[in-house]
Order: sequence, then C-alpha cells, then structure tokens
Amino acid sequence: MMEFHDLGAQYRALQKEIDAAIADVIAKGHFILGEQVADLEDKLAAFAGRKHCISCANGTDALTLVLMAWGIGAGDAVFTSDFTYFASAGSASVLGAAAIPVDINPRTFNISPDALEEAILRVQREGKLRPRVIIAVDLFGLPADYPQIEAIAQKHGLLVLEDAAQGFGGSIGERRACSFGRAATTSFFPPKPLGCYGDGGAVFTDSKEEDLLLRSLRAQGRSPEDKYDNRLIGMNSRLDTLQAAILLPKLEAFTRYELDALNRVAEAYTRELTGVLVTPYVPEGHRCSWAQYSIQLKDSQEREELRKHLKEQGIPTMVYYPRGIHQQAAYACIGFEDRLFPHTLDVTQKVLSLPMHPYLTEDEIRKVVQGIKAFFMK
Ligand SMILES: *Cc1c(COP(=O)(O)O)cnc(C)c1O
Repeated sequence: MMEFHDLGAQYRALQKEIDAAIADVIAKGHFILGEQVADLEDKLAAFAGRKHCISCANGTDALTLVLMAWGIGAGDAVFTSDFTYFASAGSASVLGAAAIPVDINPRTFNISPDALEEAILRVQREGKLRPRVIIAVDLFGLPADYPQIEAIAQKHGLLVLEDAAQGFGGSIGERRACSFGRAATTSFFPPKPLGCYGDGGAVFTDSKEEDLLLRSLRAQGRSPEDKYDNRLIGMNSRLDTLQAAILLPKLEAFTRYELDALNRVAEAYTRELTGVLVTPYVPEGHRCSWAQYSIQLKDSQEREELRKHLKEQGIPTMVYYPRGIHQQAAYACIGFEDRLFPHTLDVTQKVLSLPMHPYLTEDEIRKVVQGIKAFFMK
C-alpha cells in the first residue's frame, strides 16, 4: 500500500548515515546539548540565511519561546491564520494572550493581508487588547505574503513571527523560509518537510540579544554562566542530541535532492490534474516545500466520494484541516463569529491532501493521478 508520508523510504536511503549518527551519540553519551546540537543550529541558520538558530523541543515551544522573549501575555492580541494547525494560536493562548484568528486568501491558503488589517483595526476600535504580534503561517509549505504582512505590521507597530513549521525549504525570490519576520520558527515533527525521529523545533533570529534570551528561556531562565542561577521564568525545551544527530544527514539530503524531488512530484501532479480540479497555487517568485499537496473539490460530498474511491485503490488521503481555529471547542467561550471567516469555512469543506514525499515513484504518482481521473470520468 502507498504511504502518505513515506518515512521508511527515506530511512532506507539514509540508513547508513543515520545509524552511524545514532551509535555515535550513544557511544559519547552527551545526550543533552551535545556537539551535534550546536553543529545543527549553525547549519540551519546558514541554510535559512539567518544569524542565529536556537533549537528546542518542538515547534509549539518554539512559538511560545519567541512570544515569551517578546514579553507577550495577558491583554495582548496575537493575530494568526484561521486555517492552520492549532499551535499557531495555542502558543499565544497558553501565555494568557488573546489569539485572534484571521480569514485566509483561498488561493494560497495563507492569511489574507486585507482581513489581517481589518482585524487589527477592529481590535484597536474595541480598545480592550493591545495588538502586538502577527504569527504568519507558511501553510502546506508556501511562504505567506511577507511583503504585505510586514508592511501592515510596520504601519500598526506589530512584530511579525513566521511560523514555518510546514515551510522549511520554501522561499520568496532569494529569501528562504525562516528568514521572514523579526523571528521565525520551525518544527521537526517527523512528517514535516525536515523531520526528526520524535519531537523537535527551532527558532531563528538575527538579534544577538534575542539569541541569548531564547537560550536562557529554553533552559529554565538560567544565566549563561551558572546553570543554578535562574534569572527568568522559562521552560525546559531543548532538542535532544540524538535528534540533532539524526537531523544532520537529513538536512544534507534535504538540501542536496529532497527539496527538488518534492517540487518534481508537485509539478507532475499539477501538470496532470490542472483542468480536472483545483490544484495548489504558487505565486510568481515563490517556492513551496510541499508539506502537503492540497487539491480542492466542489464540496464536502464530492470530497468524501473521491476519498472513498481512492482508498479502495490503496491511495491514502488526508483532510488538512477540517475546521478553522475559530471553530475549535477550546475557543468556544470566546464566540468568534463565522461571518468573519468565509474563506476558511469554504476551504475546510473542499480541501484534500494527496500522498506527498520526496521518495514517491513515478508509478505511484501515475496511480494517484489515474485514480482521480477515473473518478471524474464516472
Ligand atoms: C506542526 C505545526 C506546529 C507545531 O509543531 P510541533 O513540533 O508539532 O509542536 C506549529 N505550527 C504549524 C503550522 C504546524 O504545522
């Protein structure tokens, strides 16, 4: 049976390097902040084109650590996309700040700059919260509209945080994902574009002070000199040496051929499916890292029928995401109004993600495409 994200195929390709890396960590015994962690941080910062990279335990903590470093808490408004994984909003809520979901551009699936500015003005008018941060999400691997988002942030005095948990490897022109905003974050959850063998995450910044602050906050607010001198309230959120060692050969493969392979798979899907259904839109000058390849059907009924048809042929599909942040039960007490989110409401009924990973074979791609075409010919 075809895999949706084939981590096994990647392991078979990199097994020698990964097994050796794991054995080396165990032999040396530096399980916490061993040398591979600093080595990985340097390589990630160089890849993204950023001065500093601070690794941590997962992509959710990465977002929370940045918000902590910026002093975000009760009374602050943090704007984010309504169509994203829960952590883009939950990372603000856990600090007592108000997460404000914003409707999307239905073509890119990313936060709509127009809806964003309306939301900021609405919060200003209501006068109850201080607008502070925009967490823009690179959904499915496509960088958000940073030129417009950064202009809006500047106009209203907000900070931009790029949530590149799905976006690592994407770019706009010469600028890579994780280089946008005042700071950026990513996740190494296994099926993300660059994944490890457990949980992992990282923060990117160009500020030396922020780098030091984040390193302190990920280790209980300790001082740089003395581990038992705690000066801030932080968290325990480090990337295991084992995960860093596993990520080093994976980053090399990602850079050398996986990112290109992902784009080749996406091009093949788009070439074959254009005119059959709505394929993903990649704006001029943007490069996507294809965390997901998401098509759009006519409605939820057609989506369910296609899913069933593909499943019968051994082709797995997923629905990312079935509901908007504003519809999550955790936010029911706030009572966000549906009328503010027409595009999320529409897209959540229509999207369907197809198998997507760098080791998908031509035969597998053909099978997916033919399965979809056969459905529409019925
Ligand atoms: C996966 C993801 C996160 C959280 O990453 P974890 O490592 O699972 O904590 C945050 N934001 C987005 C958009 C994600 O897809």
